[in-house]
Amino acid sequence: MTTADLAAITGIDVPTGLFVGGQWVKGGGEIAVTDPATEETIAEVADGTVEDALDAVGAAHAALPGWAATAPRQRGECLRRAWALMIERSEALARLMVLENGKALPDARAEATYAAEFFRWYAEEAVRLDGALVTAPAGTNRILVTRQPVGVSVLITPWNFPAAMATRKIGPALAAGCTVVLKPARETPLTALAVADILREAGVPDGVVNVITTSSSGRFSQAVLADPRVRKLSFTGSTEVGRVLLKTAADTVTNCSMELGGNAPFLIFEDADIKAALDGAFLAKMRNGGEACTAANRFYVHEAVADEFTAAFAARLGALKVGPGLADGTELGPLVNEDTRSKVASLVDEATAAGGRVLTGGITPDRRGYFYSPTVLDNVPPDAQILDQEIFGPVAPIVRFSAEQDAIDWANDTEYGLVSYVYTGDLRRSLRVAEALEAGMVGINRGVVSDPAAPFGGVKQSGIGREGGHDGLLEFTETKYIAVDW
Ligand code: NAP
Repeated sequence: MTTADLAAITGIDVPTGLFVGGQWVKGGGEIAVTDPATEETIAEVADGTVEDALDAVGAAHAALPGWAATAPRQRGECLRRAWALMIERSEALARLMVLENGKALPDARAEATYAAEFFRWYAEEAVRLDGALVTAPAGTNRILVTRQPVGVSVLITPWNFPAAMATRKIGPALAAGCTVVLKPARETPLTALAVADILREAGVPDGVVNVITTSSSGRFSQAVLADPRVRKLSFTGSTEVGRVLLKTAADTVTNCSMELGGNAPFLIFEDADIKAALDGAFLAKMRNGGEACTAANRFYVHEAVADEFTAAFAARLGALKVGPGLADGTELGPLVNEDTRSKVASLVDEATAAGGRVLTGGITPDRRGYFYSPTVLDNVPPDAQILDQEIFGPVAPIVRFSAEQDAIDWANDTEYGLVSYVYTGDLRRSLRVAEALEAGMVGINRGVVSDPAAPFGGVKQSGIGREGGHDGLLEFTETKYIAVDW
């Protein structure tokens, strides 16, 4: 595919260079970007070197004093213009995401507007950073507390939500007065570059936002985290890579926010509205084709309603139209790459060997592209590996339970703690169970929790810190205390 073909399909000219100091520059080579539906190269982007990464840090560092001193209202206005441009180009961005990530067009459209909303939310939050002034308990002086931008921030994002994971970090960073170096995943660099171009057009000054695409993310992170000009790392990705980055950041005691993996349990009690539970389960499992950190990874269904739920859920998933994301009527696209697909297939094989029963799917289709059929597995034993690992694909393992406490214990039996879902018609039970679940977020009779206005994040090994809401803004600030005697 040529650059002209890409422009014809998306409706925009997509930049392919590194974005450093407000200029598009070449890297030390090129990285091929693949369409997961065809396995064909759709574009080549610049391969940033360590020198490019440090140039980007330099540009962000040079732009920091000016941006931090820019009036919050003005910073907010830049974000607001970027929101408007993203909405105007949402169809183009959605089509671009389909091409590089594989997701179905309805998922990509939903992401484009969700991603834009982070700019609007943080345009509004930019003017809401507050502090405190109190009298010291001894009455001798005042305690003045203020918030300052943390400084140059390195943002590392995954491929599963190429637009939203970038805007969820850039929005609050810019609102707080920080400058950034964004490193998107090598599978999906084009969307990040298109977002950077929108920010440039929206009037964000040179050097405030920089983007480095690279085939060597390890060398990138070693170099930038060793640089004392970098004061913040905001990472979204796997727990495994998060652990490595936390260790690297320890050497320079760099402030870290970590949005890591999940293993969300979805609990359905015998008093739940089963129709609502089916809708919620479908969203929680199939949003983004199952490639979401919030994806329901394990379904614990009360034995009294398990037959009804399981049969209807299998019918619903089995009827999904699978195909290339841009094809008419496609509801489920391919997985992002071959590694992801083979991991999903091997987890299903292992679960069936352990006694799970395939009600629908369980097949790697014989066609080009990294497709995997939507799958429901019944009677999965509680100790099966598939319940312990992030599936990151369209597979729903179901476990039956009879006692509430068993469901809670099984749900909590994981190193992860991002999100949990509970379906019940009993208010007391819903709150009791929500309190007992070890998760940063709980959906009660609701299959989607993500919202730019809400604090998103996990406990245990699902992360440190929150993104979204006012909390997301605070992650990019440092508290300064000034003791005042007047
Ligand atoms: P990943 O392999 O951890 O990669 C995430 C990002 O880190 C990519 O940009 C990747 O770049 C980069 N990376 C990998 N190794 C690195 C290193 N040594 N130094 C610096 N950067 C490095 O995760 P993924 O497969 O892209 O995304 C899926 C994971 O993200 C899942 O675990 C999912 O749960 C998690 N996730 C969490 C949230 C949340 O909010 N909690 C949201 C979305 C996704 P390259 O790929 O180019 O190497």
